[in-house]
Amino acid sequence: MSDSVVIVTGGSRGIGASVCRKLVALGHTILVNYAGNKTAAEAVVSGIVDDGGKAISIQADVGNEADNLALFHAADEEGQLVGLVNNAGVVDMSQRVDEMTYDRLSRMFSINLIGSFICAREAVKRMSTKHGGRGGTIVNIGSAGSKLGSPGQYVDYAASKGAIDTMTVSLALEVAEENIRVNAVRPGIIDTEIHASGGAPDRVAQLQSKLPMKRAGTADEVADAVLWLMSDQSSYTTGAILDVSGGRAILP
Ligand code: NAP
Repeated sequence: MSDSVVIVTGGSRGIGASVCRKLVALGHTILVNYAGNKTAAEAVVSGIVDDGGKAISIQADVGNEADNLALFHAADEEGQLVGLVNNAGVVDMSQRVDEMTYDRLSRMFSINLIGSFICAREAVKRMSTKHGGRGGTIVNIGSAGSKLGSPGQYVDYAASKGAIDTMTVSLALEVAEENIRVNAVRPGIIDTEIHASGGAPDRVAQLQSKLPMKRAGTADEVADAVLWLMSDQSSYTTGAILDVSGGRAILP
């Protein structure tokens, strides 16, 4: 039997890197996708291999369809795809909607939303029993921003994650009888480099006293939830959106 393979988009840093390290426990070959930081991706691969796991890194911009197709073809070379973690995502500088350019919106939705759709499409083609696959699991990484809306900061980001919530539930129903489960994890404020990439390197420090647990979460705390949803331990869970936010934005 060929190796089972899981793709983690944006696996080189932050939450995605923690997810890659933890998924090794399920025995799959891990495809560590990255956009530009090859050194970080290779470090994740080396750590997994040192721990006795199998992993390779693949550069692909999830906002580009041709890159995504190449990413999935690389997975096919490694074995049978059984899982996808749609984790790659970006924020941008704080702006009001009346300041946002088309280019900004195009980048935001191409990476956070269309990229997740294209990757889900390619995963379903390979995993669905309808297409001759043996089934599998998709976990989308959403955001508490889908409920908070992020006014004055990044309404575009929040809207992209709102669409991820909807896609999760809808796709879960679409493929429920094809042995594919689709779930999401919705993080709150997590201590990663994404905040600096949005021009707010101090965001975690500034917000933590306002958070219900008075601290930000860690990438590992999010990855533990992803691991559960990717494992057989959650075999009757599909269409679920799991808040891993330390209580932030948990009210409907
Ligand atoms: P991060 O530390 O900034 O890491 C982002 C990862 O995504 C990196 O591996 C990066 O690759 C990759 N990436 C970025 N653009 C990409 C593209 N176009 N194609 C492929 N890969 C790309 O982010 P994070 O905080 O771990 O966030 C991960 C996910 O959690 C995102 O979807 C984010 O929206 C969500 N989230 C985060 C928080 C938080 O507070 N941190 C809260 C809610 C939701 P390179 O290393 O090559 O740049």
